[in-house]
Amino acid sequence: MNTGKCPQCEKPLQFIQFEEIPMRSGGELFDTGVSLFCPYCHTILSTSLYVDKTADEILFNVKKILEEVEDFLFELQSVHSDVENLQSVPRGVAAKKPLIAPRKPQKKKRK
Ligand SMILES: [Zn+2]
Repeated sequence: MNTGKCPQCEKPLQFIQFEEIPMRSGGELFDTGVSLFCPYCHTILSTSLYVDKTADEILFNVKKILEEVEDFLFELQSVHSDVENLQSVPRGVAAKKPLIAPRKPQKKKRK
């Protein structure tokens, strides 16, 4: 048996009511909080950050970032294998004939 009483209506509380409440910082939504209140007179007994929900949201975002990193790595891997395919093209075709012929060293004229 719980023996605690509501500070407002002084009824003994066998349970307290719980609800989510938006937390604002100035005009902007800051986070989700919880409000714990008396089920009889609705006096708020306590409020706090809804830690579990915040943790779930952080976990969700981390998973999303990991998926994006995974996609990026997959793309990088396919670019890497494209480069490897290009490098395996026989070099002789392009490399043997230089576009500009090397100059022949000029002989010095004897005086
Ligand atoms: Zn009360």
